[in-house]
Amino acid sequence: MTTEKKYCKECNEQIHGRRDKQYCSDYCRTQHFNNRDVDISNFMRRVNYIIRKNRNILSTLNTKGKTKAHKERLIDAGMNFDYFTNVYRTRAGKIYYFCYDQGYVELEDDFFALVVKEDYVG
Ligand SMILES: [Zn+2]
Repeated sequence: MTTEKKYCKECNEQIHGRRDKQYCSDYCRTQHFNNRDVDISNFMRRVNYIIRKNRNILSTLNTKGKTKAHKERLIDAGMNFDYFTNVYRTRAGKIYYFCYDQGYVELEDDFFALVVKEDYVG
């Protein structure tokens, strides 16, 4: 028989009673799941915000459906290259990154070609 002490996953209080309990109380169990949901929603909100901002930057620079922009110009505008909605790799091995309908592909000398995906879904 084990005498291992168990502690509440939420408040770290020692748990008394049944050994399979993970929380000291119903309150802590509810809090734990609520807090987890808040963390996930905050994270999702942040990611959505960054991707929407990226899309906005790209569409502001790319008014004609196709253009070139230097990397510094994108970074100055606040572009975050770590976040995008999807990636498209051509047969030639070029990689297009999309933020919804707005995409970019790296050219030489830190320039990017900005493109718009016409039929976004599919
Ligand atoms: Zn607790």
